[in-house]
Amino acid sequence: MSNSETDKSDKIKTLKLMLIGDAAVGKSSIMYRYTMNSFKLNMLGTAGIDFKKKEIEIDDNKIKIILYDTAGHDRFRKIIKNHCKGANGIVLVYDIGEEKSIERLSSWMNDIQENSDPDVEVILVGNKADITPRKVTEQEGLELSMKFNIPIIETSAKTGQNVEEAFNILIKKILKKEKVEIFKTSESKEDIKIKQIKSLPGKRKDDHDGCKCIIF
Ligand code: GDP
Repeated sequence: MSNSETDKSDKIKTLKLMLIGDAAVGKSSIMYRYTMNSFKLNMLGTAGIDFKKKEIEIDDNKIKIILYDTAGHDRFRKIIKNHCKGANGIVLVYDIGEEKSIERLSSWMNDIQENSDPDVEVILVGNKADITPRKVTEQEGLELSMKFNIPIIETSAKTGQNVEEAFNILIKKILKKEKVEIFKTSESKEDIKIKQIKSLPGKRKDDHDGCKCIIF
């Protein structure tokens, strides 16, 4: 069973999403852009964990998002690990203008894998796509996404470029997995196989929702 919750009173599904990554890669700015559609030059550093809520409609589903912003400093690592439990989706952020910000991505991925639920969906986000010159190439980002087997997208919290798209990709992946899980509980394996074969061409057309997704 999926761990997303459905609000029984108004049938709104609630998803818990988290922003994780080194300090200063732009996590708070991404949260601010996504929830307030705005950008502040100097955000206050996050003390441990902060969160904001947002309601969206995606593929005819009303969804309540609770987005957790986490501090990237080591001293908050334990709090972050505790919060990974129960998360439906994680946005793992690095800064395309800061080589150092990709050094600890493997270690963040380990934390996610060790502390999250097994069906958590993760997307890799290269933020600050507006700055030049870049220090992390598109190729490096792509290699990381292949190494972790997760989609990648480059965003700019400053201009708003791809921020909503990043969340939409993640949310669609979560919803898609849930649908497959519902089939698993209510249909025989044969039925599922037939459905998958029938839906293949459509899937290819809309690869966006699939696993490999690269948007630069
Ligand atoms: P956090 O510590 O990961 O939450 O990072 P912040 O959101 O506090 O951002 C750190 C710094 O990067 C701040 O000075 C932001 O204004 C800046 N910043 C964040 N996102 C962007 C972006 O997309 N483009 C540019 N140019 N600067 C950004």
